[in-house]
Amino acid sequence: MNKRKREDEVSHIDSQRKVEDDGCVCNIPPCHLNPILFKDYLAYESHITTNHTFICQQCHRRFPSNSILTLHIDENHNPFLKIKQERGDKVFRCIESECSKVCRTPKTRRLHMIEKHNYPKEFRFDVINRGL
Ligand SMILES: [Zn+2]
Ligand SMILES: [Zn+2]
Ligand SMILES: [Zn+2]
Repeated sequence: MNKRKREDEVSHIDSQRKVEDDGCVCNIPPCHLNPILFKDYLAYESHITTNHTFICQQCHRRFPSNSILTLHIDENHNPFLKIKQERGDKVFRCIESECSKVCRTPKTRRLHMIEKHNYPKEFRFDVINRGL
């Protein structure tokens, strides 16, 4: 009886660890605040396709969220925004659409995203220009 119980515990721990080793974690914003662990790669992939695939019609790059796609189109394909930027206006909007912060450089926006919205430091902010 005792021995059997121990075996069960061991296999439980083992299977838990296996899930973690084999799993994929999605921490692409907006999932970064509450990272989701996927047991198998297919589930992970279909999550990415349904939740993080927004395509730019002009350059056909993929983006992880609608707000990042919107910023991408503005900052890469909008000639008026370029003129504004050359004039020295602030044009780099916050990635979170409900936030009204606009920054002068992508660098200050990066700091804003990390400090105010808990974006991971390792987040590749150039995803806005280059896509996934
Ligand atoms: Zn996700
Ligand atoms: Zn584009
Ligand atoms: Zn913000």
